[in-house]
Amino acid sequence: MEKKCLYNKKCGGCQYLHLEYKKQLEKKQKEVSSLLKSFGKVRPIIGMEDPYHYRNKVHGVVAADRQGNGYTGIYEEKSHRIIRVDSCLIENQKADEIMQSVAGLMKSFKMKPFNEDTGYGFLRHILIRTGYHTGEVMVVLVTASPVFLSKNNFVKALRKKHPEITTIVANVNDRRTSMVLGDKQQVLYGKGYIEDVLCGKRFRISPKSFYQVNPVQTEVLYGKAIEYAGLTGKETVIDAYSGIGTIGMIASDHAKQVISVELNGDAVRDAISNAKINKIKNIQFCKADAGDFMVQMAARGQKADVVFMDPPRAGSDKKFMDSLLKLAPKKVVYVSCNPETLKRDLAYLTSKGYRVKETQPVDMFPMTVHTENVCLLIK
Ligand code: SAH
Repeated sequence: MEKKCLYNKKCGGCQYLHLEYKKQLEKKQKEVSSLLKSFGKVRPIIGMEDPYHYRNKVHGVVAADRQGNGYTGIYEEKSHRIIRVDSCLIENQKADEIMQSVAGLMKSFKMKPFNEDTGYGFLRHILIRTGYHTGEVMVVLVTASPVFLSKNNFVKALRKKHPEITTIVANVNDRRTSMVLGDKQQVLYGKGYIEDVLCGKRFRISPKSFYQVNPVQTEVLYGKAIEYAGLTGKETVIDAYSGIGTIGMIASDHAKQVISVELNGDAVRDAISNAKINKIKNIQFCKADAGDFMVQMAARGQKADVVFMDPPRAGSDKKFMDSLLKLAPKKVVYVSCNPETLKRDLAYLTSKGYRVKETQPVDMFPMTVHTENVCLLIK
């Protein structure tokens, strides 16, 4: 049964909501196949048993009605108008509930929503992250000013409503920007991050670190990535665009050593403590541009047997791929959230001596147009 969403027309986030889930998967399969099948076999997409409420991360822009009652929503496309959204079919339901509670407390705490046009007001965004296996919940209150009046009482009131919240962070974003989070942060309650378990390892996740939004399918995706790598325990492995270190740490059990590289300092800090939490000794972390790092590795004549790469939507760059070609690993496992840039990068790598063994699409984002793919390249 398809479910109904009250906001879909205006929100536009779930482009495939009107399609039966089976049809969505067929459509995605066709799209991926037409883009990638010329390189090699594309396996049948792996879908979800329950494709709703999978998102572990929820974000709302803060607004208020004329009476000063707070609510949250999303920006209307290409404008600053905020469309009210009280619940979402793909978001974690507990997180949606907490978001409403935060907004509901605003009036009694005389907390005004920030207005992008006038620059007046206080609360800008609410961000909630949940740990799928641990049940931990982090609430991030993004404010326009560092002066958070009666913050202790606010925290108390919120925790009273939701004792399941494990940490609350105030983040200050005083700039005119479309970025949600600013640089300054203050922990109001708890440890300032949540932990979750993925493929048997425990991961700490800070407000600004990247973490996959669909925990159920992430295990499927990473399981496939590790299977493709075919590790025997003797390999030197690179985990490029490593985030909080997930793929590399899961691979570390089956490899001689892992070198992870990531640009975001918060994510690298999380990764270092994640290695400690999981007592992993054969992993190193480097905070650097993945391309620069690979260039240096190639210049030093270092070798790698397997490279995992999981770049952002824009894909990888020539600098990275040229040094990848110099390092000449036997296997490259490319995890991609954008089949178009994957196609571009595969075209380059296959023109320089690599062959695509197969591609596995995984439906990480049901109801939306997006598809994730993991692809095995062999030299
Ligand atoms: N593999 C991780 C993260 C993937 S998301 C996971 O599955 O959780 C892509 C990551 O690439 C983000 O953490 C982002 O901060 C990082 N990144 C973006 N550009 C980068 C670059 N030029 N060099 C290294 N890392 C980069």
